[in-house]
Amino acid sequence: MTEGNDAARLAAEPEPAPADDVCERCAGAGFVRRTVRLGHPDFGKAFPCECTEDEREDQRQARLERYSNLGTLSRLTFSNLSPRGRSPNPQHQELFSKAVVSAKHFTESPRGWLVLTGPSGSGKTHLAAAIGGRCIETGQAALFMVVPDLLDHLRAAYQPGSALGYDDLFDTLKSAPVLILDDLGVQSSTPWAEEKLFQLLNHRFNGRLPTVITTNQPLDRTATGTGAPSQELRILSRLLDPDLSTVCRIDAPRYKGPQPTGRQPRSSRAR
Ligand SMILES: [Zn+2]
Repeated sequence: MTEGNDAARLAAEPEPAPADDVCERCAGAGFVRRTVRLGHPDFGKAFPCECTEDEREDQRQARLERYSNLGTLSRLTFSNLSPRGRSPNPQHQELFSKAVVSAKHFTESPRGWLVLTGPSGSGKTHLAAAIGGRCIETGQAALFMVVPDLLDHLRAAYQPGSALGYDDLFDTLKSAPVLILDDLGVQSSTPWAEEKLFQLLNHRFNGRLPTVITTNQPLDRTATGTGAPSQELRILSRLLDPDLSTVCRIDAPRYKGPQPTGRQPRSSRAR
């Protein structure tokens, strides 16, 4: 018991204001990184911050939920996911169930990249959010980011005089222990956006940092011979790197989201 010592220390030092109880070492993320060069085994790796040593389980869950940026998408879990998707097509069902297996496998010990490709509405976002939720359950920090939102944030933060810290946001994404990027569109962005995405992906590629990416792009390597923009090809080559990346194709018709409650329209105009 060190209560006496603690009490003495508290008496000797002014207590910080309640608003300041976010850890300065990790800014509340619960992990820190070592400053090492690329190629060092610790490059990009996350280490638990001292402040998490005395954390209660509920505190840890709350911290990981805050960090995750999942918001209302945390309702999308593996337990309310159709294990074979919603397509009546047996081939699509087979693909979807393989993707679910890969997604669950990834959460057990996140490493490498998991790339989920499929048309809009095929259930990629549900899978990606479920991965995030499972990571939180098992005490792993995962950051979920919708790519178009990310580009908006980066653009806004990039404006001169912006209160948002552009470098802070970018560093947060680069260093997330598990980063989940939903809805990556490698073809429909501006050169600036593609450069930013490339920098982010390249950092995580070089560090071999656990990353989940969903995209509605077909990721066809034959595009490399068609004169597609070079930035797109550079991103593509990383997404398709066989040493790092597991690519799951989900070809399915429109996916309507979880149905445990039967009717829960996303908007009031759902009829
Ligand atoms: Zn800390």
